[in-house]
Amino acid sequence: MPDFDDHELVVFGRDAATGLRSIVAVHSTTLGPAAGGCRMWPYASTADAVTDVLRLSRGMSYKNALAGLPFGGGKAVIIGDSLTAKTPELFEAYGRFIDSLGGRYVTAEDVGTTISDMEQVARRTRFVSGLGTGKGEAGGDPAPKTALGVFLGLKAAARFRLGRSDLEDLRVAVQGVGGVGYHLCRLLAAEGVRLRVADIRSAAVERVRDELGAVAVRVESIMAEDVDVFAPCALGAILHSRTIPLLRARIVAGAANNQLATDEDGRALQLAGVTYAPDYVINAGGIISVAREYLGNATEAQVTAEIQRIPTRLTEIFERARREKLPTSAIADAMARERIGRGDTRLVA
Ligand code: NAD
Repeated sequence: MPDFDDHELVVFGRDAATGLRSIVAVHSTTLGPAAGGCRMWPYASTADAVTDVLRLSRGMSYKNALAGLPFGGGKAVIIGDSLTAKTPELFEAYGRFIDSLGGRYVTAEDVGTTISDMEQVARRTRFVSGLGTGKGEAGGDPAPKTALGVFLGLKAAARFRLGRSDLEDLRVAVQGVGGVGYHLCRLLAAEGVRLRVADIRSAAVERVRDELGAVAVRVESIMAEDVDVFAPCALGAILHSRTIPLLRARIVAGAANNQLATDEDGRALQLAGVTYAPDYVINAGGIISVAREYLGNATEAQVTAEIQRIPTRLTEIFERARREKLPTSAIADAMARERIGRGDTRLVA
């Protein structure tokens, strides 16, 4: 499988009684236990699920390394429809599966899973984070934390690329207004951004339209909108040879994982003159929160302070990419590999 990248462990977990079909991929534990969320998705085939978990887990190694977290990279998928196939027993079975890995992988929520699912998981294993927390404590739902990091990263990109010190009247197209996209839209609207949004769920679109005055556009055309920034906040692999030529935005800055279909698409964006905020750098807010919750004794204020370092890190990547005439994605990958290679767990400014 082309996405296999010397992963340390890929393991299938099946439980006939509850119908659980899950795969965990541990990409690297060089910097610590592998941490990353659990995606529940109705994959068309097991091969599709394996491909996704291989790519996502490698992304987590890079994300955790560049966020300066003492965690390696891993991810889990549950094959199934999150709208129809969820039961508490299924997540308890998943918890037993995670527990059997003895702490090599720490799970949390991702697309299709929620805090209450993780609370079922926590009945069977302690290797889980992203649970409900008390006021002022680090942790809880990672989506608003991810949105804060994306918002600050988007501002850094606008400063770097457009010379903008504020976002008043900036035009931003947001693809997917679910957990992260909705919170991102709220932060952007509060700064006077003109929002265009698309989602396959009409209720999600109506919420941002009614609450924030966002303009709804068709799902098929959101990437080609005449805007300054395109913010992908739905699923991955949306930037490729057929879609990159459609982009009119000069900046791509959003939450979705694995936005590039292939590594070469980073080069295509560079050649098209698009400033791309590498996904795993800009969307690290959620894992920062999940990691601090797991490690314990951290406050929400400490998590926020750590998320506020994302724009500095991104600007460093933008500047290096310009200096070295390389894609931003290649610079970020090189920085992450370097950090994993030398096992550096110091917090990165
Ligand atoms: P979510 O499921 O809450 O929201 C995704 C939204 O995208 C949904 O409203 C869905 O209907 C919509 N969508 C799906 N396909 C679409 C399409 N083709 N066009 C338009 N909209 C579409 O998920 P989320 O937690 O908001 O995560 C969004 C993305 O950000 C995912 O790629 C996820 O992996 C990534 N991410 C999330 C977090 C987090 O903290 N939740 C952290 C890092 C990265």
